[in-house]
Amino acid sequence: MRKVYLDHNATAPVRGEVLQAMMPYFAEDYGNASSVHSMGQSARKAVESAREVIGNTLGTEAVDIVFTSGGTESDNFAIKGVAMANLDKGRHVITSEVEHMAVLDSCRFIEEELGFEVTRISVDKYGVIDLDRLKDSVRKDTVLISVMFANNEVGTIQPVKEISDIAKKNGIYFHTDAVQALGKEPIDVEELGVDLCSFSAHKLHGPKGVGALFIRKGVKLVSFHSGGHHEKGRRAGTLNVPGIVGFARAVEIAHKEMASVNKRMKKMTKRFLEGLNKELNEIYLIGHPEKRLSNTLNISFKYIEGESLILNFDLKGISASTGSACTSGSLDPSHVLTAMGVEPTLAQGSIRFSFGCDNTEEDVDYCLAEIPPIVKRLREMSPLC
Ligand SMILES: *Cc1c(COP(=O)(O)O)cnc(C)c1O
Repeated sequence: MRKVYLDHNATAPVRGEVLQAMMPYFAEDYGNASSVHSMGQSARKAVESAREVIGNTLGTEAVDIVFTSGGTESDNFAIKGVAMANLDKGRHVITSEVEHMAVLDSCRFIEEELGFEVTRISVDKYGVIDLDRLKDSVRKDTVLISVMFANNEVGTIQPVKEISDIAKKNGIYFHTDAVQALGKEPIDVEELGVDLCSFSAHKLHGPKGVGALFIRKGVKLVSFHSGGHHEKGRRAGTLNVPGIVGFARAVEIAHKEMASVNKRMKKMTKRFLEGLNKELNEIYLIGHPEKRLSNTLNISFKYIEGESLILNFDLKGISASTGSACTSGSLDPSHVLTAMGVEPTLAQGSIRFSFGCDNTEEDVDYCLAEIPPIVKRLREMSPLC
């Protein structure tokens, strides 16, 4: 049976070139980047050159990049770190209703543990935040605005530059979770004027368990990992040298191929959606029609439960997901679709197909042959029809 993986927003396979770049740092060049001897210095050199590559791609200096264990840690670090370091300035944070749980739960944490007030900005039917409401929510005691770059469930891209301008005009720090955008959209932290930006390697064909937080010079934030002077005292712990090297290689490749991959993704997802539309009625694309990640299609198959679709797709070797990986397992509609005002009957039948550079036109052919019969069969059995 063919295996078609369409869940790249959950995680993407490590590319051969990335794995190759990482290999020497496991068993040959295995030094601790903090050691003074030449083995340690060799590891340190690899880490600093990775930092350089990532900094260059983001239009900033290497020194502003702090390596972490991934997107979740970067989001926690940015939100809790800024909140705790700026208590004298105020206890108000603004975010959106469609953020990743790493952001939403960090905001919940500072509400419950530090007495913060959090304003969650609503979105329109495409998942774009309401800029007027954002402006109106700004207060004297607002210390941070955190709004994601691109949504992991529906692919909608937020007006990051406009949000950043509002933050800057009011002297508020701006954090963006750019985990889904890195390698898919150009990100220049200077041009965007962001103060903090979260990244993760495994969403762009790098290894799991490594990521980064961009921290603009002068941003006050508390460090949580104590135990050494690693990362200039901002994040203690022995550096994940192979992971960091692989991360940088993945960023490098993704940026080199961005334009051509995006073109290919657009063509593939368009043919996929058109093909399904030809065979099936009452299917709906959720998310912004243009301001979106080229690899992400969130499609609602009305009258069917997303869970039964996923299971039936899986029997044919097709991997996709309902909602986000962290929230699936419950039958509640995702917070993102709810915030977008997607009606519950549509939200329940929503599937996220997220493509990657390993997908081919043959994968699309296979899906277009296998998916419509599954949908038709499930609809025949559905009490909702
Ligand atoms: C995957 C993801 C994260 C979490 O990153 P991990 O490296 O898996 O911890 C955070 N934000 C967004 C938008 C994501 O898609």
